[in-house]
Amino acid sequence: MPQTPMTIAVDGPSGSGKSSVSRAVARELGLGYLDTGAMYRALAWWCLEQQVDPADAPSVARAATQLPLTISTDPDAEHVRVGEVDVTRAVREDRVTAEVSAVATNLDVRAELRRRQRAIIDELRASTGGVVAEGRDITTVVAPDADLRVLLTASEEARLARRATERHGAADEVTLAATRDLVLRRDRQDSTVSAFLEASDGVITLDTSTLTFEEVVAALLALARGEVRPDAHAGTPHTP
Ligand code: C5P
Repeated sequence: MPQTPMTIAVDGPSGSGKSSVSRAVARELGLGYLDTGAMYRALAWWCLEQQVDPADAPSVARAATQLPLTISTDPDAEHVRVGEVDVTRAVREDRVTAEVSAVATNLDVRAELRRRQRAIIDELRASTGGVVAEGRDITTVVAPDADLRVLLTASEEARLARRATERHGAADEVTLAATRDLVLRRDRQDSTVSAFLEASDGVITLDTSTLTFEEVVAALLALARGEVRPDAHAGTPHTP
């Protein structure tokens, strides 16, 4: 366990690879892992379940405060529960993905989930020595004082290809077209409430378009261990 608790904040658009990369970094450093997107997804699932109209802002906000959510912060054990229901897989379904931005652009929802996210981060800093938390507003709003703040970006082409492969096992013309709307519309909607398309001051940008998964994990680990310094201009990491 590291002596001083460490918070690593990772943001990025859909398909930037932030979930798998953050999980791997947490595992390697022995830290907790918080997937904040899964929390928004759990709320969207719950609203669908309860037939709460995502456009009915007060009802969605009420659902957020009442959401009986349990989320694993162990990078080796992915699970999300709402009450007694295991929704780990259900929150990844297209019907949830299609609704999640409507729920996540509700500012009262964001305030409630931000409160819960900060409580989880504080708890993990106290109990496991730290956390890798990822999402859309972690570097800017949830944990702006994190020890390391990174924005993972990737070209639209690379992001679409990753998501199409995840969803359909291949990135051909048909699967790319089917994925385009889910990815791009969601990013457009999400970016109205969070700044994750460009790095804010002090946030390091890592463009993953041409990097392998292992290369991205290695770059983040090197930053976390202080083995490289971020370039002040481009924001990309360089070996000293
Ligand atoms: O990362 P993931 O694709 O699972 O996120 C699902 C959705 O949750 C995003 O499209 C966005 O609407 C919302 N989200 C957010 N703020 C975060 C994390 C996710 O608004 N910090």
